Amino acid sequence: MSFAALGLNRDLFYAIEKQFYTSPYPIQSKAIPAILAGKDVLGIAQTGSGKTACYVLPTLQLLQSKAPAQNRYINTLVLVPTRELAIQVNKVFKSFSDHLQDPIKTMAVYGGASINPQMMDMNKVEVLVATPGRLLELVEKKAVFLSSVDVLVLDEADKMLNLGFKEEMNQVLALLPSKRQNLLFSATLSPDLSGLKELLLNNPVTIEIAAENENLELIQQMAYALEEVHKGPLLRYLIKHHQMDQVLVFTSTVHKADTVADKLNANGIKAISMHSKKSQGAREQALSKFRNQEVQVLVATDLMGRGIDIPNLPYVINYELPRSPKDYIHRIGRTGRAEQPGTAISFVCAEDTHHFGVIQKKMKKQVELIAIDGLKLF
Ligand code: AMP
Repeated sequence: MSFAALGLNRDLFYAIEKQFYTSPYPIQSKAIPAILAGKDVLGIAQTGSGKTACYVLPTLQLLQSKAPAQNRYINTLVLVPTRELAIQVNKVFKSFSDHLQDPIKTMAVYGGASINPQMMDMNKVEVLVATPGRLLELVEKKAVFLSSVDVLVLDEADKMLNLGFKEEMNQVLALLPSKRQNLLFSATLSPDLSGLKELLLNNPVTIEIAAENENLELIQQMAYALEEVHKGPLLRYLIKHHQMDQVLVFTSTVHKADTVADKLNANGIKAISMHSKKSQGAREQALSKFRNQEVQVLVATDLMGRGIDIPNLPYVINYELPRSPKDYIHRIGRTGRAEQPGTAISFVCAEDTHHFGVIQKKMKKQVELIAIDGLKLF
């Protein structure tokens, strides 16, 4: 199937070609025609399934035929749980919108960054991608008005609820006109989400795309049995031996992320850490250096496990195992995306063996433990 067959116009089609998307992903084939027809959509899909373009493309096309609203009255509102996702989603909007004959102004707003530049930039914005708290602050300051929103997208709605944004989300919903199109995307359909679904969606088209743990075939999983002291040397050995040019390493704590990155740098491997104790600017910089391959290794805590898209990331290493099997799946799911294969390697100490067993059981996949005896680590 082609994008044109989904009802997208030539202008959009040209923008899609610029992204080198040749054919739509399954979720896109199903959701795009429904969204263009003005229907509400419930999409159960993970990042990696192509869910962003699946609402970005049709909402841009819908906007093309609408008269621009008054200044600071936005048309399309996308609510997301984190600033990283806000920035990423806005980038996808821009990557298409910039190629349209009449580009549509989009913008991301999120907390943890100064509000003034966001207020100043709000002129003529038609699509706003926002975290709920910052959006409410902007509304309070009359920098933006929500009474003309006619398309609402909730992306990673389950995470939004998990992170405790329910109250803020309800406040935002109360500010929107009741007649609007609602698009709800979530990785899972939790009981909490069913409530939201009832409240929000009107006779929706439901699209469910296989969960990441059913899509793990593209990821080669490996695990090494080792002692804590061998982790650093094994990491360096693997990076050098397998000539890993781009590897995402996960640790459990902020401190560990910093020390692992420092140790790699001290050994001549360019690395940078990214975690919640870094400022927004530093986090963005770390991510962009990694994306642009200015550094070889990004060492991150679970903050990075979800939502962040690094195209064609070939390697993920669990320097420390995550607490939950779900986090494990999210972490390794940063590779093996967009139909590209990837490798995920876990370091498993004796005390983690039981926990690693639980993870494997949950993901219904066995991963053999490899001994490090034969490797020349030092
Ligand atoms: P998402 O699930 O929206 O985070 O998208 C995952 C990745 O798939 C991103 O790198 C997109 O650029 C890429 N992608 C989405 N749709 C397509 C498509 N139809 N063809 C090729 N790549 C795509």
